[in-house]
Amino acid sequence: MTTEIKTFRRTRAEIHLGNLKHNLFELKKFLKPNTFLCPMVKANAYGHGDIEIAKALDQLNSKNLFSTLGVGLVEEGLLLRQLGIKSPILVLGSFDRSGFSEMLRWKLTAVVSQIRHLEILESFPDQTLGFHLKFDTGMHRLGFRPDDLPLIIKRWAKNWKLQGLMTHLYQAEDLMDPNGHSFQQMQIFKKIFSSEFFRQNSGASAIPVHSLNSAGFFNYYVLPNEFKNEFGYNFLGEESQEQGVRPGLALYGYSPVAQSHLSLKPVMSLKTAFVQWHRIKKGEVVSYGGTWKAERNSLIGVLPMGYADGYHRLLSNRSKVLFAGQLLPVIGNVCMDYLMVDLTDVENKISENEIAETEVVLFGCDEKQNLLSVEKLAQWSQTITWEILTSVGERVPRIFLHDS
Ligand SMILES: *Cc1c(COP(=O)(O)O)cnc(C)c1O
Repeated sequence: MTTEIKTFRRTRAEIHLGNLKHNLFELKKFLKPNTFLCPMVKANAYGHGDIEIAKALDQLNSKNLFSTLGVGLVEEGLLLRQLGIKSPILVLGSFDRSGFSEMLRWKLTAVVSQIRHLEILESFPDQTLGFHLKFDTGMHRLGFRPDDLPLIIKRWAKNWKLQGLMTHLYQAEDLMDPNGHSFQQMQIFKKIFSSEFFRQNSGASAIPVHSLNSAGFFNYYVLPNEFKNEFGYNFLGEESQEQGVRPGLALYGYSPVAQSHLSLKPVMSLKTAFVQWHRIKKGEVVSYGGTWKAERNSLIGVLPMGYADGYHRLLSNRSKVLFAGQLLPVIGNVCMDYLMVDLTDVENKISENEIAETEVVLFGCDEKQNLLSVEKLAQWSQTITWEILTSVGERVPRIFLHDS
């Protein structure tokens, strides 16, 4: 879902594929070579452009760097497969019969997570069906209840081939806390994956067991390495299996935990440039509703970026942009296509030409590697990093850079 139309404004999202690779290698450092690893490319690869991101990852996978790509919807998986992505693709979302049938046809792997799915599987008795099973250990979104296990075993058919067992943590930030929610979830999950049935089913080559999103990954694999003496590395016990990882946010360069101890690099930088600038007098107002009033004679710049491009209106009078190495305030209400910036503080340091030419960073890095992080924008608009990234509008062209 990448826009490839010619555009006539400088607004663009630069996607640094080199940084994507860098982040993947950073994660790999903490995992055994064969630990289940599922880079998440759902939701248009967190807004980065799923086709190009999947292609870049697919190339890496000739070296077996990960197990499967992860998408949320059947149609996301179909798009990638139809455009030539060769890696295994795991569809984490729910499905109906026609969705399952398409997944079989295009060799996408389903996550079976409720009794109704078993009925769908049973309606394909003549084909080998490989899939992952998902258990709900506390989030109460998707997944079998742990006490569904006997029923699943009873209905297990000869043509069913289990390829993975999974759960999802709803508060992975507390994974190292023995009194935390994740600890309880992992205990429940452990009972399931170490049950006799799954052990038999796994045979010599163990079934991958996976539960960790980015926050879970940091808390399970990274932080214990840093603080070996304080926490036990593997609180599930000596014989417990490795936990597979399904990283999303970390892959795109951000850590959901305060101290990540990894050098992740942001993959997306959202940029634009001023289309107009003008002086206004003390007392005059800016934008719809006149919510910003000049307290001095001011120089105001207009950027071609608005809430239709994913720059939330909630950021009005709250956020900043990065311009010539400096953070400048966004003033007045953010419009559908435009937002305004107070340039008064830089007015004496910069020529009109420079105002016209210099790129403005809405988030990400400028040419000199100054960073305005997505986390900041999330804070200013009282949301989370994930939502800022996935909000970047469809009409913002993604420019893919193959840098290192
Ligand atoms: C989105 C998603 C992830 C990735 O989460 P991040 O916090 O972005 O790492 C992992 N597992 C499942 C089931 C998901 O839906």
